[in-house]
Amino acid sequence: MKITLTVGIALSLLVTSAAAQVRIPAERLEKIFVPTPEQQEKNIEICTQNLIKLGKSIEVYLEVNGDYPEWLSDLYHPKYLPEPDVLTCPSDRMGGRAGFARNIDPKMPVSYGYQFRSQHRERIQENRTLYGDGVPLVRCRHHPNQDFHCLNLSYSYKISRSWSIWEAVPEQLYDSPEEAIAAMEIGLQQQPDNERLCYYVYPALARLYIETGRADKVDGVVALFKSSINTDYPRYYMTLARLLEMTDQDAELLQVFKELAEQDPNDRSVHRKLAEIYQKLGDSESAEEHRLKAESVLALLGKPVPGFSAIDLDGKPISLEQYRGKVVLLDFRATWSSQCLEDTPNVKKVYDAYHDKGFDIIGISLDNDEKMLREQLKKHEIPWRQIYSGKRWQSPIPQQYGIRNIPQGWLIDRDGTLISQRANGLLLEHLVSEAVGVEVNLIKLLQSILGNNK
Ligand SMILES: [Zn+2]
Repeated sequence: MKITLTVGIALSLLVTSAAAQVRIPAERLEKIFVPTPEQQEKNIEICTQNLIKLGKSIEVYLEVNGDYPEWLSDLYHPKYLPEPDVLTCPSDRMGGRAGFARNIDPKMPVSYGYQFRSQHRERIQENRTLYGDGVPLVRCRHHPNQDFHCLNLSYSYKISRSWSIWEAVPEQLYDSPEEAIAAMEIGLQQQPDNERLCYYVYPALARLYIETGRADKVDGVVALFKSSINTDYPRYYMTLARLLEMTDQDAELLQVFKELAEQDPNDRSVHRKLAEIYQKLGDSESAEEHRLKAESVLALLGKPVPGFSAIDLDGKPISLEQYRGKVVLLDFRATWSSQCLEDTPNVKKVYDAYHDKGFDIIGISLDNDEKMLREQLKKHEIPWRQIYSGKRWQSPIPQQYGIRNIPQGWLIDRDGTLISQRANGLLLEHLVSEAVGVEVNLIKLLQSILGNNK
């Protein structure tokens, strides 16, 4: 056991330095993919003008037809939008032809994401009720390396720059925090019990009250949350905790996190928080106890991995249970991480070599750009199933397992036992071959790594 561990550490050190040598310098990557800053600025200006023109034509369409268009391409008509160029962003390298299958405009190339497509209307209407008319109606995601992810046209035909997921930072959609507050106050009067959005809207309103010097209004937000949202809602306690934390209500916060720890004793982020709260309350002994539970990387090693169930990228139910009997890698990664992109061919190589010997992979994406994810999966011909929620570090499964850096591979034995939480790089093949029961020539493997290192 000790020998295996030492070899493992030696290998991982070698792998780290070998990987460091093949990394492509950022300057080179930029030269390949990114237009000059001046060109980018110009494109953003043209794109903004496109969005304004789209807004005007939607306004006319709405007047004439009494409803929003089904697709943006419906606007291409002498009455609404005589010039089709407006539907293409100059930064869109695919000229509006990319996009993922179910969102692609059926009639012509369109660069812009139309939020009010027929299958999304109900969901977007809820957003609009709670967050007001600043909510994006049309979005452009073709401007990389900016401090925003999306250029948006809102329901009030205004332009905003926001992250992809704006629900936690709704002020990005408005000219001032006060405007965002006013919109959410009206929204919460109408739908205080909206479970889908309560995780975002209540903490966002509380935070903005504090930031604009109205901390006295936060108690009202907490009271409205408690009286409107059912404690059965899975994220009830997590949301309440975020609210209590903002106002330093430590005693109640402690109660809430104890409740969370009871619900899921394996959630390391809950223990981390409990350690913090106990420390603040001066109880070092309890703080230490929870710190140990939280920080022990080896806590789960050799133990059964708690299961999960989700919906995969193809819309099918997926659970860890389905993979019992196989050696499975939970592969946490994201396309926005260059380290992950560099490591992808290695994972694919191991998959190809060991899949028919009983090895499988579940990709758990920390992306927030589904299109980019699909493009990468296609490019690398990745056949294994993917779980995507669009929430980056807040994605449910990475949250459940306390994932704090990527790429990270959790290798699980045929009976569901965790073998390694560091199954990455060249170490991956060593661990997988051992787990599926194929003898690996360790000396040969070490020589190949040392060879790479010269
Ligand atoms: Zn654009």
